[in-house]
Amino acid sequence: PVPTGPALKFVEEFITNNSIAIFSKSWCPWCSKAKEVFNSHGLKYGVIELDLDENGANIQQALKYISGQKTVPNIYINNRHIGGYSELYPIFETGVLDDVCSGGQIDFEYDLVIIGGGSGGLAAAREASGFGKKVALCDFVVPSPLGTKWGLGGTCVNVGCIPKKLMHRASQIRNDMSDALDFGWEFNKEGVAHNWEKMVTQVQSYIKSLNFGYRKMLMENNVKYFNAFGSFVDKHTLKLKTDTTESIISARNFIIATGGRPKYPDIPGAKQFCITSDDLFSMKHRPGKVLVVGASYVALECAGFLNGLGYDTSVMVRSILLRGFDQQMAEKIEEHMISCGVKFIKNTVPTSFKKNDKTGAITTLGETNGKKTFSGAFDTILLAVGREACTAKLNLEGIGVKIHPTSKRIIVDEKERTSVPTIFAIGDVADEKPELTPVAIQAGKLLAMRLYNMSTQLMDYKNVPTSVFTPCEYGCVGFTEAEAITKHGEAKIDVYHQEFAYLEGVITEKAPKSYAKLIVLKEEKDELVIGAHIFCPNAGEIIQGFALGIRMGAKKKDFDDLVGIHPTVAEVFTTLTITKSSGKSAGATGC
Ligand code: FAD
Ligand code: NDP
Repeated sequence: PVPTGPALKFVEEFITNNSIAIFSKSWCPWCSKAKEVFNSHGLKYGVIELDLDENGANIQQALKYISGQKTVPNIYINNRHIGGYSELYPIFETGVLDDVCSGGQIDFEYDLVIIGGGSGGLAAAREASGFGKKVALCDFVVPSPLGTKWGLGGTCVNVGCIPKKLMHRASQIRNDMSDALDFGWEFNKEGVAHNWEKMVTQVQSYIKSLNFGYRKMLMENNVKYFNAFGSFVDKHTLKLKTDTTESIISARNFIIATGGRPKYPDIPGAKQFCITSDDLFSMKHRPGKVLVVGASYVALECAGFLNGLGYDTSVMVRSILLRGFDQQMAEKIEEHMISCGVKFIKNTVPTSFKKNDKTGAITTLGETNGKKTFSGAFDTILLAVGREACTAKLNLEGIGVKIHPTSKRIIVDEKERTSVPTIFAIGDVADEKPELTPVAIQAGKLLAMRLYNMSTQLMDYKNVPTSVFTPCEYGCVGFTEAEAITKHGEAKIDVYHQEFAYLEGVITEKAPKSYAKLIVLKEEKDELVIGAHIFCPNAGEIIQGFALGIRMGAKKKDFDDLVGIHPTVAEVFTTLTITKSSGKSAGATGC
């Protein structure tokens, strides 16, 4: 029935007189949340608490007649019916609340456009499209200075984790073959050789299948794919550029997931004669004698597998190995790599690269504290001196997205929101986040769930486990010893540790001594474990499971109470009894 009397007129006037009008009930938690949203944006609103108003029942009936909505909160902005909290939520979460309040445009060609089709971008696209949103993704690979390019999937798939791990495996097979003789296998070792070209072909063919898989995934999820370079025209408009075309698309929201690319030191010959990880995994010819410049993840992993595949490999180290990692573990990696044949040129930086056109050898000069200390000729120079975020050509400054002045990465808040409320950034391009594939994926998924599925879950960047795939792997989660001491003070922490021989290696004699340690906070009941580190084969596989325990707040007692699986390497974490503070030796013992 058409309501009669003053209630109808009252509702109409209230909506007209208040640019933001909320019909609420004082006890309703969703009404409180709606008010919090406006308060947090400093927006003034008019509110009627229907349960406290003597005419509340009539007003609610009139409101139902006008808006078609029976429940509270019932929200109007500028005379436009918004709905309840579940309709208000995506408006503020996608950053368009101010636009709605000022009468600005909020409906565009796409709900969401993602720039960058790597780990983070693809995950966000799949998740957002699953919520019925109209999504597009653009991805474009600018060729490396030597002309290398690749397909959809980003760094991890094409020039990162995937080819790296496969080549790491290829090099381990050499150790397996050598171990095989000790285990009684008989074959002519002299006849064994590695075919670089065949390995590259196999790896690249697998990568092509992944590139295809991602295109298919986008198609199946109704995500419009543009193989084009994106740059902002304004905060809702993106220019898409291919080698031959240019077009424009608009979206309510953007996610920037453009990742990073290898840096080049500013020295003669770097871009002309050296390769980076962007070129290595598809290199057509054998690397020969290699110099790796840099001493972090990329440098050590690549040096490890190149040496393992039989190439003479040297690593030029500016300062320390694996900055940011536990330095005791870094020492173990260095010792083992040296025992495998990798040469380290310490405290040295390259100053020039010059190619001999006749021999093809690249002469590298290096210096220590300004004094020329190094000269050597190599067939391949692999630069692994860090990565720079792909932010320079997005016109971020033009639209007000702030980047960090030194890292050039995009500054985001805990919701991955940039300084422009409708634009987000995830993965390697976001400032101060671990540069790891699963981090980018998780951040992308959670962001889409917050934007379109009323989730409030934030990405947790703490206790992210990682593994360095050096010839003997290193897996870790949580604090390093140095970080634990800085944060809590030496007196408050203890370190349980053990050196051990892993069973599979005991017959071969060449196996490295493995080592595990748990860093604990002594003052917490049963000792809270705040860091776990292990140096052993397949360390990544081991640390993944223990990371769950640490994330859930496991105590040292939980590790002790856990029954081990024998004989495994991982069981070491269930039997650690020697503390560093006891001064007792952590040397290998029996079974
Ligand atoms: P990316 O995967 O880099 O994707 C970004 C995409 O955006 C790229 O395709 C790029 O071409 C494209 N793009 C850039 N600008 C534009 C633009 N303007 N328009 C359109 N497209 C654009 N992590 C691990 O977790 N484990 C590992 O073992 C591991 N190994 C690695 C080994 C190496 C050699 C390297 C280099 C990295 C490794 N990483 C590893 C790190 C991991 O690859 C990255 O953290 C991850 O790929 C980041 O994902 P992303 O989505 O942020 O960016
Ligand atoms: P990093 O920034 O971690 O390390 C750069 C290295 O290069 C450091 O050893 C640095 O030395 C050295 N360096 C920097 N500039 C120079 C220079 N001018 N001359 C000589 N040496 C120099 O970069 P990476 O490329 O190794 O890794 C990038 C990111 O990729 C990592 O942070 C990681 O998150 C991700 N990644 C992950 C992997 C995994 O999960 N297994 C594997 C590979 C990469 P110094 O310490 O002196 O500054």
